[in-house]
Amino acid sequence: MTGPRSIRTAVVHAGRGDLRALGVHAPPIDRSTTYPLDDLDQATADLETLAHGGEPGASPVYGRLHNPTVARFERAVADLEGAPESVAFGSGMAALTAVLLASGATTGHVAAIRPVYGGTDHLLASELLGSRVTWTTPDKVEVDVEPETALVLVETPSNPLLDLVDLEALVAAAGDAPVLVDNTFATPILQQPLRHGAAWSVHSATKFLGGHGDVVAGVVACDAERAAALRRVRVATGALLTPDAAALLHRSLPTLALRVEAAQAGATELATRLARHPAVTWVRHPSRPDGDPDGLLGRQQAGPGAVLAFEVAGGHRAAAAVMGATQLITPAVSLGATDTLIQHPAGLTHRVVEEQALAETGVTPGTLRLSVGIEDPEDLWADLDAALRAAHHGG
Ligand SMILES: *Cc1c(COP(=O)(O)O)cnc(C)c1O
Repeated sequence: MTGPRSIRTAVVHAGRGDLRALGVHAPPIDRSTTYPLDDLDQATADLETLAHGGEPGASPVYGRLHNPTVARFERAVADLEGAPESVAFGSGMAALTAVLLASGATTGHVAAIRPVYGGTDHLLASELLGSRVTWTTPDKVEVDVEPETALVLVETPSNPLLDLVDLEALVAAAGDAPVLVDNTFATPILQQPLRHGAAWSVHSATKFLGGHGDVVAGVVACDAERAAALRRVRVATGALLTPDAAALLHRSLPTLALRVEAAQAGATELATRLARHPAVTWVRHPSRPDGDPDGLLGRQQAGPGAVLAFEVAGGHRAAAAVMGATQLITPAVSLGATDTLIQHPAGLTHRVVEEQALAETGVTPGTLRLSVGIEDPEDLWADLDAALRAAHHGG
């Protein structure tokens, strides 16, 4: 391919470069768990290379070492992230765990910026994997980074309140410590963290990349050396993405830009209307006047994204009532699907976060998070407005 291409074109063609030579139009699904080996010495060399995280030789040898269908999805994600490589896993948490293992963070120190996804918070706060963790803020990273810091972890936009963090400033403050960005909310359509100096861009591919609520998966974009370390961990621990899941994910990529653009436009409209609603006390979305204090939209993140949070007057009871009253909008955790989902962070996604830490990040009992889908925003508003009225008047 020559010349720069629009992201809309890139999503359609990413990871499909070998198809014409194969004589096929759609990526084939290779479900082999093992492969015929005609030459033992060649197979021994291939196995040796793959077990150490290297590239496949003549044969993948065994399904835990390499899979061509998964590799095609990985090529696609790497291209969209502007990264040399990417490595896919069976879930976002498996992907994060692999980065912690591959980076030495499990025997060293991690500096993490709250708020992050509840599962990530729990994995670090529980010290289940052995990492020593300092919870920090962007302005304190410089002092909280130690010589043993294996990585600095950040989410931007953050889950669930959509705070934006200046990645170039963070990378500078982190010094020698590499920065891991959870890019799940932004997607490579809106933000490519490696271009701003991050070492890893991690996705819960369960969300926007899959986009249809039918695949659990994770993927990490990074340089070649870090990718080899991640593949080595994946071979050793077996946290694989299946070929069928990879094929579904790859099938979703051509519409990623269209989905994100449509959902983001809907989210922006709903954020505006929610901010005027008498039953709503505040709205968090990067499109709001106070949503981007450092001016990162356009510079780091191409648009505000499709997730927003708001607080319902009346606390937990009112929030539960709104969640229970929507008809079109599904009360459910997760995000990034074609349909709109509403959930209660304090009761669900961030339930496992220490109470004090959650309160400090600004999540209140009345906070709801909305992942806006690609439905007509007018229909979403009618549903949301009716649910807010019912909750408001129901007391
Ligand atoms: C969902 C999510 C994860 C975890 O991913 P799984 O695919 O559920 O394992 C990590 N980070 C963020 C921001 C998420 O939204």
